[in-house]
Amino acid sequence: MDQNPLLHTFDHPPFSKIENSHFKPAFEKSLKEARTEIHIIVDNIETPTFSNTIEALEFSGQKLGRISSIFFNLNSAETNTEIQKLAQEISPLLSEFSNDILLNANLFKKIKSVFKDKSNEDYSQEQIMLLEKIYKNFTRNGANLNQNDQNRLREIDMELSRTSLSFGENVLAETNNFELQVKDKSELDGIPDDIKESAKNLAEEKQKEGYIFTLDFPTFIPVMKFAENRELRKKLLLGFGSKGFKDNDYNNEKNVLNIVKLRLDRAHLLGYKSHADFVLQERMAKTVDTVHTFLDNILEKAIPSAVKELEELKAFAYEIDSIKDFKKWDKAYYTERLKQKKFDLNEEILKPYFELNRVIEGMFKVASKLYHLTFKKVSDLETYHEDVITYKVYDETNKYLATLYADFHPRAGKRDGAWMTIYKDQYRFNKKEERPQVSIVCNFTKPTKTKPSLLTFNEVTTLFHEFGHALHAINANTTYPSLSGASVYWDFVELPSQLMENWCYESEALKLFARHYQTNEILPTKYIEKIKESSNFMEGLQTTRQVSFGKLDLAWHAMESMNSIDKVKDKEDLAFKDIELLPDIESTCMSTAFGHIFQGGYSSGYYSYKWAEVLDADAFEYFKEKGIFNDEVAKKFRDNVLQLGGTVEPMALYKQFRGKEPNPNALLKRAGLIKS
Ligand SMILES: [Zn+2]
Repeated sequence: MDQNPLLHTFDHPPFSKIENSHFKPAFEKSLKEARTEIHIIVDNIETPTFSNTIEALEFSGQKLGRISSIFFNLNSAETNTEIQKLAQEISPLLSEFSNDILLNANLFKKIKSVFKDKSNEDYSQEQIMLLEKIYKNFTRNGANLNQNDQNRLREIDMELSRTSLSFGENVLAETNNFELQVKDKSELDGIPDDIKESAKNLAEEKQKEGYIFTLDFPTFIPVMKFAENRELRKKLLLGFGSKGFKDNDYNNEKNVLNIVKLRLDRAHLLGYKSHADFVLQERMAKTVDTVHTFLDNILEKAIPSAVKELEELKAFAYEIDSIKDFKKWDKAYYTERLKQKKFDLNEEILKPYFELNRVIEGMFKVASKLYHLTFKKVSDLETYHEDVITYKVYDETNKYLATLYADFHPRAGKRDGAWMTIYKDQYRFNKKEERPQVSIVCNFTKPTKTKPSLLTFNEVTTLFHEFGHALHAINANTTYPSLSGASVYWDFVELPSQLMENWCYESEALKLFARHYQTNEILPTKYIEKIKESSNFMEGLQTTRQVSFGKLDLAWHAMESMNSIDKVKDKEDLAFKDIELLPDIESTCMSTAFGHIFQGGYSSGYYSYKWAEVLDADAFEYFKEKGIFNDEVAKKFRDNVLQLGGTVEPMALYKQFRGKEPNPNALLKRAGLIKS
């Protein structure tokens, strides 16, 4: 055990010394320690106080937390079958531990007693937030219920996880069972070569003739966008849209109704009117009414544009292909064709202006202009892979703020996508300031001997996005780790990240770094204009679609009783009434494959995509008013949003920064849906 580096004291993770075999014993030992710390709190005979209960709980299990972050971060960025297998063993141990805490009646008694006395004490704002967070964590898990109701809650939770699992398995089975075979290559005109190639490989694998297309996103999307063959698009869309809705073993209608019913029962048991009420209590939006009004406001402006755009698409389809009966399977295709015709903006033209190292430098320059941060590349920190670059971040007084790990290129053990994660939180403990260790992980093309890593514009905004999350963590300045940095409500967490993306569209920022990697020429203004214009292309239709998903989510989860529901499709049609502009296809249903809300964690939260856009557009409008590198605005954003994390209600933080509540018009203007 002594040889186990995870059990020694360390500041930065000692990656080079960690072996897979160290994790299990390290978890076991640190879990035991964490349990002991909980026992000490519970067994304390003194009167429960903020310090001996709330703070003690907040700072318990620190070792376990550090080991978990290293382990799960590696499982995402540099995994292997051994780590994956370990994760299967360790995850249940961790959920058992967290359940044992949340169901510990004696612990809750102490927390409740501190909570009840809160008005008699002189707590700081941050202490009140922590107290409420911990108290609600317990009550939302049933701590205030009698034994019978608690048992019922456990049953519901188990039933819910079983049903959601079955929902997801059905969707997966429907996706996997579907295949569309095309024998003749001439039927595949327009489809990109690499998609055709993988369809051909799949057919070969299955020992079948020709090409096989599936419903996987990387296949589905390009076929819908590019296949000239209308019949092919139709078949694929019908396959996609009827997942979980066919008369077979994988039908999800019952699962949908069950999940909705169980969630409603759970909310009622805990004293809420609806599941959405329960969820939104812990969100910036707070109430169902606020979300409805929010979505309706946006729809009101988006639908007239959407109607016009659809007319334009129909006219275009008629003009080039004599299509008279424009259908759902035509939308993506003619949108793409029209976009090409109007903008002719080829990714390959832009890429040479976005060489990875220059983009990173530019991103750091933007952060330095805004928040006076300095990023120094260092080579004395250990990493888990040779591709990982390490930086130390300093503030304007040259004080060390954070460590930033950056891991940019794909490899076998890394999952898809891009994300920000933490190896160590920022917090203050025993009067000592602990600074955070932050990591950005992406999947950008690796440089070769002859060519550097050139990013698509989409990758540039992705990098700025993740960097925005990182800035939230880097600037954190709080006492308690669970309120630090990006530990904020779900519908607030994307503000710092989406805000950063805005600088990618501004020539004043782009000229800092967008230079041709061979000629050093600055990205021409005409391209910047095109990027902006094309990003708003068919925005009315896109917005309407996005908002309609939010509406469907609420239709299911803001219900206060199940009385009126009979058929899933009827309920869905009702939710989409007045929003869906193309004729309905009877054999398709969105809800039966809507994994975000019936399988993942987005129930009553789908609106938050648009909500976050409203926040970032409104925040950036403030920057634009005063100058995109204005010191005063940047300082307000740093002092109120980036530094304070979850220590204050987000709406209050936002108002401290902006001077007023966010106004959706900023987004509508940016999206070209209203005139300024
Ligand atoms: Zn994000």
